[in-house]
Amino acid sequence: MNNDLCPCLSQLSYSECCEPLHKKQQGAENAEQLMRSRYSAFYLAEVDYLIATLHPSKRRLDERELLQSTINNTQWLGLNVLDHQQKNELAEVEFVAFYQDNPVGQLHERSRFTCESGEWFYHDGILLPAIKLGRNDPCFCGSGKKLKRCHG
Ligand SMILES: [Zn+2]
Ligand SMILES: [Zn+2]
Repeated sequence: MNNDLCPCLSQLSYSECCEPLHKKQQGAENAEQLMRSRYSAFYLAEVDYLIATLHPSKRRLDERELLQSTINNTQWLGLNVLDHQQKNELAEVEFVAFYQDNPVGQLHERSRFTCESGEWFYHDGILLPAIKLGRNDPCFCGSGKKLKRCHG
């Protein structure tokens, strides 16, 4: 039993959120849930899960090494899901994932997903420009403090 909050900042505990997906006890119900669980998998270095949820047509020969190096070189700070659109077996999720850098790094992406035989897969994404952060807005790390008093 793990009572820690889930890294995807859902405000649920990890055991009630992304852990059952990482442990293959249940599948993602939609693309947003898959996206969140993939962010958590990056955060927790669940490389097998990242490979399993990447569409087989998109896996490169050195996928494991690429993922491992991203994981080793990135300290993730928070996730903000901005949009989720689904049409039948296709879905898009727009999100910003924040990582440690100076100033703070942003991966702002609109990702594409497909559902095949009830299983969601990540395909690819379009990178978008960094979003503007307000110094009085709640910090992206989920601390509940204002940005300027936290990671600002
Ligand atoms: Zn989660
Ligand atoms: Zn913060």
